[in-house]
Amino acid sequence: MKTIGMIGGMSWESTLTYYQEINQGVNRALGGLHSAKIVLVSVDFSEVEHYQASGEWKKAAQLLIQAAQAVEKAGADFFIICTNTMHKVANEVQSQVNIPLLHIADATGQKLKIRDVKKVGLLGTAFTMEEAFYKEYLEREYGVEVIVPNGVQRRLVHDVIYQELCQGKLISRSKSDFLTIIGDLYEAGAEAVILGCTEIGLLVKPEDTRVKLLDTTQIHVESAVHRALK
Ligand code: GLU
Repeated sequence: MKTIGMIGGMSWESTLTYYQEINQGVNRALGGLHSAKIVLVSVDFSEVEHYQASGEWKKAAQLLIQAAQAVEKAGADFFIICTNTMHKVANEVQSQVNIPLLHIADATGQKLKIRDVKKVGLLGTAFTMEEAFYKEYLEREYGVEVIVPNGVQRRLVHDVIYQELCQGKLISRSKSDFLTIIGDLYEAGAEAVILGCTEIGLLVKPEDTRVKLLDTTQIHVESAVHRALK
């Protein structure tokens, strides 16, 4: 079994899900007392969020580079960044270590391909929904059309992520807002909706809607377990 390097803490609420479900996935495959081999570096999300909000992406990248070098040094065979947003600096981080990054948008893109999804909705932070590193990456590499909510809805989703979900607050009003937005994306032709923020799955569950959801946390976990056991 390979050792998974995890860069977590963005936020720790979703890193908890990663840690638990990676272990469950390995145990399902191997049985008995088996669990995953993991080295985890968990950052202080307040520092990361500060750099994001002030546009200091080089400094944000530097934090993740240090974390990636630490997991490499501790014996990780490959690594994952346990957030969608920070994949904005994925190339910079990858260039400073020798172990491969399992990119969250590749794991998601492969899932879209398997399910033959041609047009997909995307929810995430404003960075993820509006910038090229994620949306255009999926379109270019996986040939899907990616649609996002309108400006007011994007602001709402972004604010709920930082002010509620990353602080462990699950509020029913926000859940119904998210379900409305998911419904609107479906009405606009999305065959499925990507939960492109690793905390959204804490609030919105597959059973809450008839729209097909692609939870990036679940997909990334599944892909990391597969890679560790390959
Ligand atoms: N975990 C979230 C994501 O997947 C947001 C936190 C962050 O800004 O990294 O994008």
